[in-house]
Amino acid sequence: MKAVFFTAHGGNDVLTVGERPDPAAGPGEVLVRVEAAALNRLDLFVRDGIPGVPVAFPHVPGADGAGVVEALGPGVAGPAPGTRVLLQPGLSCGTCEFCLAGERSLCVRFRILGEHLSGTFAEKVVVPSANVFLAPSRLAPEKAAAFPLAGLTAWRMLVTRAALRPGETVLIHGVGGGVSTFAIQIAKLCGASRVIVTSSSAAKRARALELGADEAIDYTATDVGKAVRELTGKRGVDVVVDSVGAATWKHSLTAAAKKGRIVTCGATSGPAPPENINVIFWKQLSILGSTMGTDAEFTAMLAAVSAGRLEPVVDSVFPLADVRKAYERMASGDGFGKIVLKVSA
Ligand SMILES: [Zn+2]
Repeated sequence: MKAVFFTAHGGNDVLTVGERPDPAAGPGEVLVRVEAAALNRLDLFVRDGIPGVPVAFPHVPGADGAGVVEALGPGVAGPAPGTRVLLQPGLSCGTCEFCLAGERSLCVRFRILGEHLSGTFAEKVVVPSANVFLAPSRLAPEKAAAFPLAGLTAWRMLVTRAALRPGETVLIHGVGGGVSTFAIQIAKLCGASRVIVTSSSAAKRARALELGADEAIDYTATDVGKAVRELTGKRGVDVVVDSVGAATWKHSLTAAAKKGRIVTCGATSGPAPPENINVIFWKQLSILGSTMGTDAEFTAMLAAVSAGRLEPVVDSVFPLADVRKAYERMASGDGFGKIVLKVSA
């Protein structure tokens, strides 16, 4: 099969498009012919090499994918070959205390497709049958591949962890990536009265407003924390979505209302911001971590996408042969929405 792979960590020059052996579905597994795959920031980290996460070279990256069931391994009842599916990228053991509680992404042996094992940037991929879900019939493969990881991450952050309620207000830092484009839509779906976003790009601010955001702040022109307090009559927002980290954390603390919740799923600008603990206890803030999500959350998010209540935003589509251009687009941060690889017809 044709696949993207690398035999050493490094920059884009380690990414190779070439032939790899076809995988076969073992017991409990499904072989999927990949039609489209989507990039996540995770793919840059995996290419660079993540300390403490060794990969077996040659490694095929890619967490998100959609395609057609090609074969079922022993003991798998369905979906039947030929069915259009998409993949839940989080793999769990099914037996630890967190799995038994339904908390797949807290599994002590949690793994992610394309990080710990062979991923979706290939014509064929093998996954456990529990990770295969029916693709919404209304979506082309390029859109079906574009939301599992980001949509699930944003859903758990807002719906479960922050428990966003109708009428509440939300700040989302740094719109443009997959998680933020979903977070805007999910916040409005939950009934948020006001969604404030930030971006340095006028084009991205305009796109975010089209997606449903109510206000968009240029973080290069103003102090975001103060601007949010001014916009909200000095009250602040109920929920802050912060995946930026070091560069935004102090603004998150300032922008949060009393008893506000700050939810984080990453730290793209660095993991160690200065921390004003006095602000956290005085305002009685909740700081909430979040990583991907459960099957129940995935099913609910998928239902919202299937019903057209959430729309995957696709920035660009590249053929598999142009994978380096796709990675460059991801690294540039210029995109709005998901960067997709067209793998096969
Ligand atoms: Zn487990």
